[in-house]
Amino acid sequence: MRERLLYEQEIINEMNTALEKEQFEVWFQPIYNHSSGARVGAEALVRWRHPIHGLIPPNELIPTFERNGFVYELDKYVWESVCKYLRTWLDEGIDSLLVSVNISRYDLLKDDLYDVIVGLVNKYNLPISMLRIEITESAFAKDNRRVLDVVKLFVYYGFTVEIDDFGVGYSSLNTLKDVPAQVLKIDMSFLSTHYDGASQSGEQRISRGGTILESVVRMAKWLGMAVIAEGVETVEQANYLKSIGCDYVQGYLYARPMPAHEYIQHIVGVRKEEKLLTVELVENYDNNKFWDPTSLDTLVFNTYVGGACIIELHNDHIEILRANDKFAKMVGGENCTIKDILSLNLEDHICDHSRETFFDSVHETLRTCEDVVCELQFLDLYEKGRETYLHTTMRVIARTTTRSLFYMACFNITQHKLAERHKLLVRQQLQAIMSNVVGGISATIIDNDGKINFIFANDYFYSMLGYTEQQYHKEVDNPLVLVVPEDLGRVKKIISSLT
Ligand code: C2E
Ligand code: CA
Ligand code: CA
Repeated sequence: MRERLLYEQEIINEMNTALEKEQFEVWFQPIYNHSSGARVGAEALVRWRHPIHGLIPPNELIPTFERNGFVYELDKYVWESVCKYLRTWLDEGIDSLLVSVNISRYDLLKDDLYDVIVGLVNKYNLPISMLRIEITESAFAKDNRRVLDVVKLFVYYGFTVEIDDFGVGYSSLNTLKDVPAQVLKIDMSFLSTHYDGASQSGEQRISRGGTILESVVRMAKWLGMAVIAEGVETVEQANYLKSIGCDYVQGYLYARPMPAHEYIQHIVGVRKEEKLLTVELVENYDNNKFWDPTSLDTLVFNTYVGGACIIELHNDHIEILRANDKFAKMVGGENCTIKDILSLNLEDHICDHSRETFFDSVHETLRTCEDVVCELQFLDLYEKGRETYLHTTMRVIARTTTRSLFYMACFNITQHKLAERHKLLVRQQLQAIMSNVVGGISATIIDNDGKINFIFANDYFYSMLGYTEQQYHKEVDNPLVLVVPEDLGRVKKIISSLT
């Protein structure tokens, strides 16, 4: 601890001189579209080339500088350096593409932050799209209006804002709905404990963390945001990211952060991508309201008495993107969580006849944009042997040319369905017994006034009395008329003793 304190003190003592002597270096780490192989830009990362300690990584500096306020001075230096590089490269005809710079959450509290950044872009006469702004998710954690206002100002002015270090909490997308950021950066290292890599069978297995990443990627796309995965270190991670449609990557697998001259050499000859890809909604049923934590739709979604979920349809494949707690409990029982539900593959469990019903309903709501009601049967949902019937109302909320998004409100009607089936079974069994018995059987209700109501008789009953079924019902309105008069008293006595 003593050593740490001394080291920290040394850093503090020397930081101002270091800035004057230009000992801080800006390094660049490229960002790629790994599906197309194109480059999309870089992130600027600071290092201190210390005369004695050598290259000091930012993790050893930034926390101290954030505590003593120096971070703003350093960041201004980094931003200006980046702008200078961009200007030089433009002048040299090198299409270096955009660069993202980090903005500490402490910078966001400075009154002149906006003026400083706009001033730099103007001073170096850069297209506004070349400088991107990275703000860590935690800066928005405490519903900070001020932070939000600054970010809005940047976006309004035309900057692209990226939310850095977006965590695994899928629900935090909700809290970020108010942030008008265009890019979400997800750090793979946050997922490393969930990411299993190769299993013993040599097969890829992505655990629940992966599934949550997937739903974050999809939701971000539905919000019109691009997603960059950073800290990508393995081919398995890269393949998985491709499989879930996360095309933008930054990580050691592709390139480490490097000094400016290396960066320029590195990207020479690599095709560039002009614009980040995002899903474009061709029709939008107030989709965004759905992710807004304060919107009525969301409140209804979360507090809805029944279960509800949001599913995506793509190439006739369905996947759950969001579910409320009620839905989880309804489908998986008391111990089932929303996370469990999100890792569930609904398609594996829907029964064949229900699959047809489901897709018919889906296509109908797509055609009419109206609510469509259907009953669906699922098998082995969450637990082996579990049978689930859901009464479902679905509605399309958004769609693109290739994907659609649906809202499903569900009631669990399993008990009712099972009881109904049980009743039917009993009736069928009874019928089978009665028609096979050699003997007449009839069921009759005699009410309190002595009125007789016929319920049922088997074939033998009619034939034994010498009637067909039709004849019997035409001619006999009261079975007691068939009893010989001297027995009538006895029969009535027996009946009254039974009732
Ligand atoms: P960050 O903004 O999340 O930056 C990404 C960090 O991940 C960088 O660390 C980068 O070198 C590292 N990284 C990239 N690919 C991989 C990978 O495949 N595996 C692993 N394990 N790491 C990878 P770096 O450069 O050490 O920066 C650390 C943090 O320091 C940054 O995290 C950022 O929060 C902060 N920082 C760096 N430069 C600046 C700056 O100029 N201003 C401010 N305010 N903060 C900065
Ligand atoms: Ca960053
Ligand atoms: Ca990051």
